[in-house]
Amino acid sequence: MSLKVYISGRLVDKEDAKISVFDHGLLYGDGVFEGLRSYNGRVFELDEHLDRLWESARAIHLQIPGTKAEMAAAVEETLQANQLRDAYIRLVITRGRGTLGLDPNRCSDPQVIIITDKIALYPPENYEQGLELVTAATIRNHPAALSPRIKSLNYLNNIMAKIEGLRAGCVEALMLNHKGEVAECTGDNIFVVRRGTLMTPPIDAGILEGITRNVVLRLAREAQIPVAEVPFTRHDIFVAEECFLTGSAAEVIPVVKLDGRPIGEGVPGPITGRLIQAFRRCVQGD
Ligand code: PMP
Repeated sequence: MSLKVYISGRLVDKEDAKISVFDHGLLYGDGVFEGLRSYNGRVFELDEHLDRLWESARAIHLQIPGTKAEMAAAVEETLQANQLRDAYIRLVITRGRGTLGLDPNRCSDPQVIIITDKIALYPPENYEQGLELVTAATIRNHPAALSPRIKSLNYLNNIMAKIEGLRAGCVEALMLNHKGEVAECTGDNIFVVRRGTLMTPPIDAGILEGITRNVVLRLAREAQIPVAEVPFTRHDIFVAEECFLTGSAAEVIPVVKLDGRPIGEGVPGPITGRLIQAFRRCVQGD
């Protein structure tokens, strides 16, 4: 059975899932997207993802066709058509077909695309042994140029940093902001444990407000772990006891090295381990 993809109200075979070459999503990266997970047939943090999608669209002056409830129903329909209970879900809203000029007002038909598939996480050994990161020379987009809070189809900033990471043999790379502070990774938020406090950069460090990030902050507070959303630099990672990343695809994954330097004991730490366990229980709805 071929995978079904939802495009603007229709479920079509993967091979037939096509949009116009005049769509500004393709021509200019003009559009927004979301990446979600379903566990055991339940979409995790669905309302939060839909809120962020609507806010991203609002920020780029794009009207998403239909309501959040209709989008939620379309996600459900696509998962069922593909008989998927544990899946990665990609929602994409493009500006729609336009002319070769930039003018978004000349695009008439924003496309709603829903792709569901089995998830390919990082290999299991990365979760057991932890990841190694390098710092990318490419800084995160300046918020005054393009806010990192918008999850737009224009991901070249992150891709440039990802290329740097891959060329250094790392699957993720650390990105700093224009002030030289730690921002986030190319597709994940970052946390450190420093003097017993769990620290993560604040939103105004110029990051995507990750939904996994917010869940982990909540789980940490529930577990009485001191938390702080404060700016910090690479120094704080070098001297941290622990480090980990969060994201819908990656979930919670330990980091054990930055730029060739071991973090803490150079192995995944105990607070990271506790939060991984708490996160697993949370996604299963316990
Ligand atoms: N930062 C960036 C740049 C991302 O693209 C993502 C998710 N793809 C994240 C952080 C993590 O966000 P979330 O937990 O909502 O998946």
